[in-house]
Amino acid sequence: MDTIQSDSYPIFFDDSLSELITFIKQGKYSRTFVLTDENTSAQCLPVLEPLLAELDNYDLIEINAGEESKNIDFCVGVWKMLIDFGADRKALMVNLGGGVVTDLGGFVASTYKRGIDFVQVPTTLLSQVDASVGGKTGVDMDGIKNIIGTFTQPKAVFMSAAFLKTLPERQILSGLAEMLKHGLICDADYWKELKNSDLSLPSVELIYRSVEIKNAVVIEDPQEKSIRKALNFGHTIGHAVETNSILNDERPLTHGEAIAIGMICEAWLSHKKAGLPKEHLHEISTVLNGLYPKYPVPDTCHNVLYELMQKDKKNTEKQINCTLLTKIGCFSIDNICTEDELCASLRYYAA
Ligand code: NAD
Ligand code: ZN
Repeated sequence: MDTIQSDSYPIFFDDSLSELITFIKQGKYSRTFVLTDENTSAQCLPVLEPLLAELDNYDLIEINAGEESKNIDFCVGVWKMLIDFGADRKALMVNLGGGVVTDLGGFVASTYKRGIDFVQVPTTLLSQVDASVGGKTGVDMDGIKNIIGTFTQPKAVFMSAAFLKTLPERQILSGLAEMLKHGLICDADYWKELKNSDLSLPSVELIYRSVEIKNAVVIEDPQEKSIRKALNFGHTIGHAVETNSILNDERPLTHGEAIAIGMICEAWLSHKKAGLPKEHLHEISTVLNGLYPKYPVPDTCHNVLYELMQKDKKNTEKQINCTLLTKIGCFSIDNICTEDELCASLRYYAA
């Protein structure tokens, strides 16, 4: 499987963990820091450790698992450890984990001493097909997702299917939502292939195609001025539902579960406002409702969700902007949606 080239960095697939060690050795880094969370320490580090042993030195930094750790307090903890370890500008950070570790680790690296090199070793399906590619780093604050962050590209990304073996099914489904999104916005054949595949553990070929799509979009528009907004399909409503769930639910939705809800709502908006044919809307909601458990979104929480959408950094001057579909495989950006339309789409999901 070929290495995918992004504008400034390679995304390795074949034998990627050996490539990682070669990369570190050739980089002549002063010190290597491997950032993990408690789960990736237990499940993923053992896969990497025999290879890391080839290095002269490396240090481990661990954060707690989960979105609750993706905040500035945990960044302070990691910055402090880098200072205590005496990390200089030639240090490297290896972010070994899901989107929380790759987003937070990328942000910490991009700001420590005005920026040190970092590489992403994504261990969840979601971070492989989405979070590790494209250079968005950041953390949440005051209940607003990814509100503090930078656009900083990693030096390389190393994909390995080995990590997915220990990933719980719910996390596989979470990443799958982004893969389905890639098909819906850009590639109708890929959407068709996905919906006809055994998705309990998507094949490396399917993962590769998703990374190709994400990479092609971000290369064309790295700073999200235009076509990168395509990737926000499902995310205007999805992020609000996700944030609300994190604040209120004992067992919060995963990112992908929330995005699947957002995609159903935004497919409805696409039908009403952007010409998505009725059969396509029906197909999208049937596939997504079949894969993800139904989640209650009563009318009583529409207010809160709308307020969260207004705070979303994607929106300007309190107007809510959605990326919609004109048909399966084609998107349309910057569609302004009213509160009434957004609430009606939530009602469509809940029906
Ligand atoms: P996550 O990092 O919280 O990982 C999910 C869970 O799986 C965690 O409990 C983690 O410890 C565990 N885990 C990770 N790898 C494992 C493995 N191989 N085996 C067993 N358990 C493992 O969440 P995620 O779903 O990977 O990522 C979600 C985050 O990514 C969100 O914060 C989202 O905002 C962000 N994101 C960022 C971008 C971007 O462009 N930067 C894109 C999409 C999502
Ligand atoms: Zn997403």
